[in-house]
Amino acid sequence: MSIKQASFFESVQRNFDKAAVHINHPKGLLDQIKTCNAVYQMQFPVKIGNSYQVIEAYRVQHSHHRLPTKGGIRFSHMVNQDEVMALAALMTYKCAIVDVPFGGAKGGVKISPRSYRPEELERITRRYTVELLRKNFIGPSVDVPAPDYGTGEREMAWILDTYATFKGGEIDAVGCVTGKPVAQNGISGRTEATGRGVYYGLRELCNDAKIMKSIGLTPGIAGKTAVIQGLGNVGSYTGTIAQEEGDMVVVGVSEMEGTIYNPKGINVKDLIEFRKKTGSIIGFPGSKELKGKQDWIKIECDILIPAALESTINAENASMVKAKIIGEAANGPVTADAEAILLEKGVIIVPDMFLNAGGVTVSYFEWLKNLSHIRFGRMDKRFNQNTYGNIMSSVEKLTGKSMSTQEKNMITRGADEIDLVRSGLEETMVNSFNQIIEVYNKKKRVHDLRTAAFICALDKVAADYLTLGVFP
Ligand code: GLU
Repeated sequence: MSIKQASFFESVQRNFDKAAVHINHPKGLLDQIKTCNAVYQMQFPVKIGNSYQVIEAYRVQHSHHRLPTKGGIRFSHMVNQDEVMALAALMTYKCAIVDVPFGGAKGGVKISPRSYRPEELERITRRYTVELLRKNFIGPSVDVPAPDYGTGEREMAWILDTYATFKGGEIDAVGCVTGKPVAQNGISGRTEATGRGVYYGLRELCNDAKIMKSIGLTPGIAGKTAVIQGLGNVGSYTGTIAQEEGDMVVVGVSEMEGTIYNPKGINVKDLIEFRKKTGSIIGFPGSKELKGKQDWIKIECDILIPAALESTINAENASMVKAKIIGEAANGPVTADAEAILLEKGVIIVPDMFLNAGGVTVSYFEWLKNLSHIRFGRMDKRFNQNTYGNIMSSVEKLTGKSMSTQEKNMITRGADEIDLVRSGLEETMVNSFNQIIEVYNKKKRVHDLRTAAFICALDKVAADYLTLGVFP
């Protein structure tokens, strides 16, 4: 028997309500935060081959408490208004949690990108951008899109070019979109940012001795076994970085074509190469294929990482989860119904609005770079390098010992843009984790990390509204 499941937006609203009972803000203020401030649904014609296709698309600005609003654009045949509203709402909470000063937004274009040629996708993207422009739904101080499921830096470059064509004289025009190619006013480290943030978030969780003890695990991410569902941008970087920098062991990977398993570990980088060559993860050396559609969810492991789309873990399959931790790399992969079942089982869920916030965090750095018209590190790299060099020489003189050139270069190196981006991202994820854990540990009646994260977010958004004087 199939169970009637809550819609994605209803799921987000239910989680909101669950957190709202723990905080003390006027009902009107909470209602204002909860609702979507502006929903723009559009239909536009695009010439595909010899005929015209009417494309359905959306941009939802969930909260105007801070401007610009911010959030990705999704290309998927599953796009609908409820989904875009849910994703926009999550962006508001996500930005608040990681102290990125934006309101939340999201865009969606209802197409299967694989069914179109690049020049057709370009036409669709450019026309969508024009529709946004017509209603003042895009601009560096208004609403700043970014990549999401089905889009990447190529689409962001088309968006910027279309925007700049219309707003040529605008000095900050390049800040109208983030996730651009580095050569076109993007920032180093944006592509890996979401996956890298997921790694930092999981590492912090695994370092929390109290939480690890509560689920019968020892502290530290090294040696923890994980299953990754979805090998897109987020899943691939999460896997490779967690493996290379954290010694996490990926024992299972699931993609559209099926699931593979190897208890000894799957090298994610090699697997990505293998899939590029063969078009599938199935048959990857050393791994075994699991044939059941839901088999990925049943694999025995410490951390299950859904990194694809929403609602993959739902009321129908939640009871099959064997993992002790679920790391929500995707947006909304666990429905509110599933969450109730999982919490009952004692599973720790690391919520999306914190765990995958690395993408928007580095988008914020890119936007800052665009507005300041200068690359991070340009002013201070050499100065720092010279200062460290002088310190080194003094130490050598004082001690009478000298270091090898290799050691010297390592110690005196000034930071490049990528170093600063990674450092800013790590600082952000660690700080936010600590804020969430503080609420989790302090509030006696809060028993899950999502509610704790929501409380952090709602308090910050509410404080902004109060400062604005909207709710005296
Ligand atoms: N689409 C990403 C997300 O869901 C990134 C948004 C952004 O960088 O604005 O967080």
